[in-house]
Amino acid sequence: MLAYVGLVQAGNAKAPSSAAFELITLGDSGGIQDGNLSAFLLRSLTENNYIALDAGSIVNGIDVALEHNAFAKLAIANDPEWHTNGTILRQHVKGYFISHGHLDHTAGMLISSPQDSSKPIYALPSVHQTMLDTYFNWQAWANFTDRGIKPQLKKYQLIDLMPKQTLAIKDTSLNVTAMSLSHPLESAVFIIEKGDDLFVYFGDTGPDAVEKQGKLKAVWQYLAQQLKSKTLRAMVIEVSFDNQRPNNLLFGHLTPKWLMTELNQFNSLLATTTDKDTPLQGAQIVISHIKYSLAKGPDPRIVIKQQLEQANNLGIKFILAKQGQRLEF
Ligand SMILES: [Zn+2]
Ligand SMILES: [Zn+2]
Repeated sequence: MLAYVGLVQAGNAKAPSSAAFELITLGDSGGIQDGNLSAFLLRSLTENNYIALDAGSIVNGIDVALEHNAFAKLAIANDPEWHTNGTILRQHVKGYFISHGHLDHTAGMLISSPQDSSKPIYALPSVHQTMLDTYFNWQAWANFTDRGIKPQLKKYQLIDLMPKQTLAIKDTSLNVTAMSLSHPLESAVFIIEKGDDLFVYFGDTGPDAVEKQGKLKAVWQYLAQQLKSKTLRAMVIEVSFDNQRPNNLLFGHLTPKWLMTELNQFNSLLATTTDKDTPLQGAQIVISHIKYSLAKGPDPRIVIKQQLEQANNLGIKFILAKQGQRLEF
């Protein structure tokens, strides 16, 4: 697939001439399809090390990505001891970024942990606590971390992300900044930086008008400041349900209508900070977390795609995440 070339040009930023990031979708659904749950690999195209953005499906996601030739541009290490999927996970994935503790974002990491290599897990403090209480407790699962109930196997080093504090990601050339999102339990957005290029990954989130906490507004404000001097390459954000879903049954999720409401807020803020009337025109937004359904009826992916396109007054380029897909931004 050809590179998608970057999007929001803010201030005096130069047009990006080539792609900065590679994104591989390991899992595209927000439930209920085991083997295809929220997880992405992201790397700077200047290096061979990924970070995992959520970890709902890991080994099955790598296997499907291999079938789709998604690692064609990765210089895969030669490891006589492990199959290619094991080598990718053990040597090329340098850390997990867990947006929140729900199983559809963590199950793949938990299940693959016995054969995983040692690496950090980055998350907000409350997210680490949920995982220690719920999974790494020697009941649901062994404690593979370096905190909590003993014995601690210390395979995973828990690193706290404090909101708005930027941190270098070990074994990569990337920096990360996290902020809190509204969901039934605290969730997070990760703003990944490589030089002046930004990639933004949203965990599950409800719209501000329903959640009443103003957390997305704070994210849009932060990003608008950043984009005075930096370039937004792409964002991953969720749309779990179609527009039929009533607000009282959103459970901290977005619909096409609510995503467009939020993006219009962001666009208005950007318009005031960048002197552009349509700053999000051409922006590339990957839609994650569409709920798979066992029920008969219209395919939620088709309905959501149509509803996004109908409401797209900003000229945004929406891409539905698809397991095994490789994208450049
Ligand atoms: Zn979820
Ligand atoms: Zn969730």
